[in-house]
Formats: sequence, structure tokens, C-alpha cells
Amino acid sequence: MTKSSSPEARTETVRESLHKMLLEGPATAKDLSRAVGIPEHDVAFHLEYLERSLRRRGERLVLEPPRCLACEFAFDRRRRYTRPGHCPRCKSPRVSLPVFYVEGRAPAKSKPT
Ligand SMILES: [Zn+2]
Repeated sequence: MTKSSSPEARTETVRESLHKMLLEGPATAKDLSRAVGIPEHDVAFHLEYLERSLRRRGERLVLEPPRCLACEFAFDRRRRYTRPGHCPRCKSPRVSLPVFYVEGRAPAKSKPT
């Protein structure tokens, strides 16, 4: 935790920076924490709020769920922004990081999966 004389202003700046980064392209919580200068643990917290304000603007925060690298199990519909500890199916700790990005107002073509 770093000292800040104005936590509210800092919070605004953090979310603006996160928003900007996510508009540019997909990023993991680790990427975001490094770029914005907040602990990885706090990224999830800020993204939840960012998602709400984006919705009002007609934008969308997209979460690509993590996936098990060992058995391909996809953590579908997992609405948590943090990385799961291990795969529930094969117990492998080799799980990819969830990736985030922002879809703007223009309807974007969905990527083939
Ligand atoms: Zn697995």
C-alpha cells in the first residue's frame, strides 16, 4: 500500500488508465497491474467498477476465461477476475491467465472460437 493524499482522484486515474489499455487490446491482470502501477490483486476490484461505468457508455468489458493448459478445460462463465489456483478437472496448476479487453460502441465482429 502506498500513501496517497487523494485516494479518490487516484482511483479515477487508475480506472481511466485501465480503460485506455483495454481499448488498445487484450491484457492480463498482470499486464494491467504493471502498466497502471497497482497490485495485481487490486486490478479485479477496479475492473468490476470499470465494467459498470462502461455499460452506461455502451461499451463492454470482455473477459476471456482462463483455460487449463494441461487438459484444455475452459473456465467458462467464471465471473471472477482473478486467476483460478488450479484446474478443477485434472488439478493441474498450469492454468492460463484470464484476458480482458474493452469492446467499443461499434459492433465488433466476434472472433471465431
Ligand atoms: Zn485440467
